[in-house]
Amino acid sequence: MSYVDEVLERVKAKNASEPEFLQAVEEVLDSLRPVIDANEETYRKEALLERLTEPDRQFKFRVPWVDDKGQVQVNTGYRVQFNNAIGPYKGGLRLHPSVNTGIIKFLGFEQIFKNSLTSLPIGGGKGGADFDPKGKSDREVMAFCQSFMTELCKYIGADVDVPAGDIGTGAREIGYMFGQYKKIKSTYEGVLTGKGLTYGGSLARTEATGYGLLYITQELMKCHGESMEGKTVVISGAGNVAIYATQKAQQMGAKVVTCSDSTGWIYDPDGIDVALLKEVKEVKRARLTEYAAARPNAEYHEGRGVWQIKCDIALPCATQNELLIEDAKQLVANGCKAVCEGANMPTTIDATKYLQENGVWFIGGKAANAGGVATSALEMSQNSERLSWTFEEVDSKLQKIMVDIYHNIDDAAKRYGHEGDYVMGANIAGFEKVATAMIAQGVC
Ligand code: NDP
Repeated sequence: MSYVDEVLERVKAKNASEPEFLQAVEEVLDSLRPVIDANEETYRKEALLERLTEPDRQFKFRVPWVDDKGQVQVNTGYRVQFNNAIGPYKGGLRLHPSVNTGIIKFLGFEQIFKNSLTSLPIGGGKGGADFDPKGKSDREVMAFCQSFMTELCKYIGADVDVPAGDIGTGAREIGYMFGQYKKIKSTYEGVLTGKGLTYGGSLARTEATGYGLLYITQELMKCHGESMEGKTVVISGAGNVAIYATQKAQQMGAKVVTCSDSTGWIYDPDGIDVALLKEVKEVKRARLTEYAAARPNAEYHEGRGVWQIKCDIALPCATQNELLIEDAKQLVANGCKAVCEGANMPTTIDATKYLQENGVWFIGGKAANAGGVATSALEMSQNSERLSWTFEEVDSKLQKIMVDIYHNIDDAAKRYGHEGDYVMGANIAGFEKVATAMIAQGVC
């Protein structure tokens, strides 16, 4: 039995109740087969895969807090410190009722490779709680965040583990957590990223994931003799990633004709009006029907459907499993050339395979949306220097990082005889750096 299969069996036996973690490990190890097979003897002797699939440590803790009626509530908090071979643990805090050990482990495992791809010194971690901020008052959210940080602060630090936002954890939650960390530790340090601009946050962090997605997409097109100029782009979502992806695509001369939210989608043949979209979503926090009402040529449709619109480039930027096999078939039939993922895991495995097999250039989220975490690492650098860089400085570093990621994943795929398989290239490029560091640091 190959080393990969042996480890997969062991991981399955040990983590049977964590399906998301198993799925992530299987996907990554499967695509690493060429590099593992080529170094099987060394990696087996080092037990490299066993060490890579076992977190350095994980914490699970009680989070009691008092709601507005005076009732005590109890949630479960998590932090998984997966691998710090190349830098302090780094990864977001997800606040959502679905959060459990398996989900945090899956996200932490994936984060190791994504963070490695950025070329910055950050290891992989993830955390969160089964708390739902939706419908809670500001005071309740603060009470939860303070209780959560009262325990979490024992395990994190600017050189140890630097959490960030994720689903349910935005600027408000990061602010409350940062305040509590500071109060307990009496230390002002860059222990969290995604902070407000007045207390150590980075310019361009808000735009980073969407802009970064377009920088890597532009490089992909350029390396295939194409440009963004005049291209029709279809984007899903209307949140942070989608809005800034739309803005940057239009600055590059492309026309973005769709956006969507969890209830419906817009087709605007004149090109999405970003200022209006920001007003509807960021200011009024309203539905997309308000966008359609203000644009005479725009159509609003209930449900999902952006992938049926003819396009050159498709950028899923909403949520997981939103681009299905039938959508992939429609995109191919309509002559779509490239799909790059702004969201995490938006394309199902069968849809990804179909796109790749039918000649669509496909870059997965691990590489394509790494601009967010990369800019978080730039926030860490600014905090350490006690300096703030200008928007242009951060943006130009982000641009270089994304272009470098493209060439790294492209080169890695070519080196192992899988030219054009950017999913495999991303896993290999992310893995190689971590594996080399782990071996150099001995058995630990
Ligand atoms: P937001 O919450 O700002 O936006 C998400 C958007 O997707 C909203 O418009 C939301 O609509 C829509 N949406 C949610 N669920 C569905 C659904 N089932 N069908 C259709 N639309 C849906 O999140 P972000 O933009 O920050 O994140 C989007 C994705 O990008 C996530 O997968 C996230 O993990 C990933 N990501 C984000 C990064 C960042 O820096 N923000 C970094 C790396 C990855 P509605 O408003 O109706 O809920």
